[in-house]
Amino acid sequence: MVASLKGRGISDAAVLTAMSQVPRHLFVQEALRAQAYEDTSLPIGYGQTISQPYSVALMTQMLEVCKGMRVLEVGTGSGYQAAVLASMGCIVFTVERLREIYQMTNILLRQLGLRGIHMHRGDGTLGMPGAAPFDRIIVTAGGPEIPRPLLDQLEEGGVLLIPVGERPRSQRLLRLRKKQGHISREDLGPAIFVDLVGNYGW
Ligand code: SAH
Repeated sequence: MVASLKGRGISDAAVLTAMSQVPRHLFVQEALRAQAYEDTSLPIGYGQTISQPYSVALMTQMLEVCKGMRVLEVGTGSGYQAAVLASMGCIVFTVERLREIYQMTNILLRQLGLRGIHMHRGDGTLGMPGAAPFDRIIVTAGGPEIPRPLLDQLEEGGVLLIPVGERPRSQRLLRLRKKQGHISREDLGPAIFVDLVGNYGW
């Protein structure tokens, strides 16, 4: 899997190391384990998916994380992205709205004994005011707009990555940076994510 990521242009050594260390097969359903290291997204139940490895790698690389950063993830899903960030030394705050997925992933992350992941259930489009500000925010579901609370909870110098666009298949991955209170925005290309559902989502 890691060799194929390199072949597709993932060059950040810390991302590649983390993805070679986190056992992706433990984050997918047992019946799908044989496909765990193929470059494809897979169903995790309740209409949700574990993102494709290339997309996790690319987003993690684009997020420009360093050890010790406080990272908010909106859309915990399988917990794989959170595990990759934690294995890079980030302090991860991750929010999931669906109770069943929250419970399933909470048990898994505890079993794996990964340190530095704080899991919460709720509407992640509201961020996590109690734990803000964050150095980095990554949204792994696509919505119609950039949730204002996430911009407000971004630290000065911080980066926010989020897929935004009209349904069905016109999402763009955006990277926003906060510098001296001013927000700049880059378009990183097309993206395909499940729906971000919530106050500032669909
Ligand atoms: N990062 C995940 C990918 C998860 S798919 C992984 O590594 O597997 C996106 C997830 O976002 C789904 O589990 C979905 O239930 C969740 N989601 C959608 N809208 C949300 C919201 N407003 N707040 C929190 N989670 C949300």
